[in-house]
Amino acid sequence: MISRNGRFTTHFATQSTGTVPARILAALAERTEALTHSLLPRCCALCTLPLEHPDERRAGWCAPCADSLPGGDARRCPICAIPVATSAAPTMRPGSCPTCTRDPPPFARTIALADYAPPLDRLILAMKFGRVVALARPLGAALAERIDCPLDLLVPVPLSPARLAERGFNQAWLICREIARRRAMRAATPLLRTRHDPPQSLQPLAQRAPNLRGAFACARDLSGLRVGIVDDVMTSGATLAEAARTLKSAGAAFVANIVAARTPPP
Ligand SMILES: [Zn+2]
Ligand SMILES: [Zn+2]
Repeated sequence: MISRNGRFTTHFATQSTGTVPARILAALAERTEALTHSLLPRCCALCTLPLEHPDERRAGWCAPCADSLPGGDARRCPICAIPVATSAAPTMRPGSCPTCTRDPPPFARTIALADYAPPLDRLILAMKFGRVVALARPLGAALAERIDCPLDLLVPVPLSPARLAERGFNQAWLICREIARRRAMRAATPLLRTRHDPPQSLQPLAQRAPNLRGAFACARDLSGLRVGIVDDVMTSGATLAEAARTLKSAGAAFVANIVAARTPPP
């Protein structure tokens, strides 16, 4: 912040601004730091053991759990994040799995933390249906570290107004906001659901894509922007593909999916 006399200051500058004594600003900064620390989780979101290290408290889960997420170190297709066997890799076209090579999706990249499998699936269900919204924090924190492509804007997959009213929050937006905060990125909600569809998880895989045609609208011009779409779980990829199609129709130059969990193939 630039003060009136042109000197650079921060919110908690250690020098006096001329109106508030420096010792009061310093004490306030100390209290804020202590309060922030006290608000951090004390137990691992996955194994519930106490978090000892400040880095673990900031992340929201312990280092052993972070290192052993299901499929966390699997080799994945960079476009759809489906796990690919190492032995199959030499026959793949560089950069994509056989499905993405044959029928390239409208998104160019998928970043996934791990497979949708225990214990990560339980955490996501607790966040979404148990309303433990604080669990978006470790997911967003871990995803923020995984983003490896330049992005101008983060966008959550929207819920329909009816589902948002029923649930009270959009878990994708909570994760999206956490990533944006940690990476100092812009986040917005330009995507809208145009209708109230039954949950995709209740529909056969083959019916998902046709049902989603026209399911979204975009409320702003995204010309030339590189957009990351955030969601909690990517199953068939049909929802994210339709969202990507909509974003590209609004001018997005590049679309990447950022998802906490990827459902492994049956
Ligand atoms: Zn743990
Ligand atoms: Zn693929």
